[in-house]
Amino acid sequence: SFHQIRKNEITQRAHLGQGTRTNIYDGVLTVCGNSGNDDEAEYFSTEQNNNSREMHVILKVLDPSHRDIALAFFEAASLMSQVSHVHLAFVHGVCVRGSENILVEEFVEHGPLDVLLRKEKGRISVGWKITVAKQLGSALSYLEDKNLVHGNVCAKNILLARKGLEDGSAPFVKLSDPGISFTVLSREERVDRIPWIAPECVRDVGNLSTAADKWSFGTTLLEICFDADVPLKERTPSEKERFYEKRLRLPEPSGRELASLVSQCLDYTPGERPSFRTILRDLTRLQPH
Ligand code: ATP
Ligand code: MG
Repeated sequence: SFHQIRKNEITQRAHLGQGTRTNIYDGVLTVCGNSGNDDEAEYFSTEQNNNSREMHVILKVLDPSHRDIALAFFEAASLMSQVSHVHLAFVHGVCVRGSENILVEEFVEHGPLDVLLRKEKGRISVGWKITVAKQLGSALSYLEDKNLVHGNVCAKNILLARKGLEDGSAPFVKLSDPGISFTVLSREERVDRIPWIAPECVRDVGNLSTAADKWSFGTTLLEICFDADVPLKERTPSEKERFYEKRLRLPEPSGRELASLVSQCLDYTPGERPSFRTILRDLTRLQPH
């Protein structure tokens, strides 16, 4: 269930990069006439003339794919269309352009969190990081309450609507769509997602549940703490697999309480991981005043 966008409503501009079986483009969505929700349209509009609105979007163009991959791509669009939260990126819908399937998502101005963390390495305060973690946690708590699984939480999929690096300002992030579920990806692609993917899901994709998002959240917290320096990134795929098989622990962030929260999320037993409600409460306690 998602809004179908006509091909003449989108304009494709510069190529921005590649994702999991996708090519990403900068784009414009032009909505004509009085149709749709005016408040919402106004919020996203960058220009307004004669009832036609232009919105800055990104276009995720799926590579030519088999049916199961295309279905998973539509499922990601459908998940994001069912939900509404300030810290979830807005998905306008899907456009079918000839043989191409295109997910149309709001353009989040300042790009992915991992890029910013690397660029500002060593200059980002703990308070800033906790704020981002809380915003991500609130989006995931919202999904958990609805019993919805994101399935691809990582710093790359967290986008900055506001950088919040100047004094007196705060960051504002939005979690992007999960893209193609790893349940239809190859084993190699799943292993590639170690240490974000929950260990139980490498073995059996049927184990995907809200608990998997908690593991990914724990790894994302580590990414944030380590300024996007990802644990295990130098390891080979078989070394990564063995790391999980041996149930080894990822490195701890500094600070006893934060380390404890991360280690609770990174529990090899899915049922032992805390709820996002609990995670949020713990993060609030950690926030410097
Ligand atoms: P995956 O499913 O693995 O996340 P993807 O298709 O979502 O794959 P990404 O690698 O997440 O692709 O995104 C590629 C690049 O596109 C990002 O690094 C970022 O620069 C840009 N990008 C993605 N989504 C947005 C967005 N909503 N607003 C602005 N830029 C975006
Ligand atoms: Mg993505």
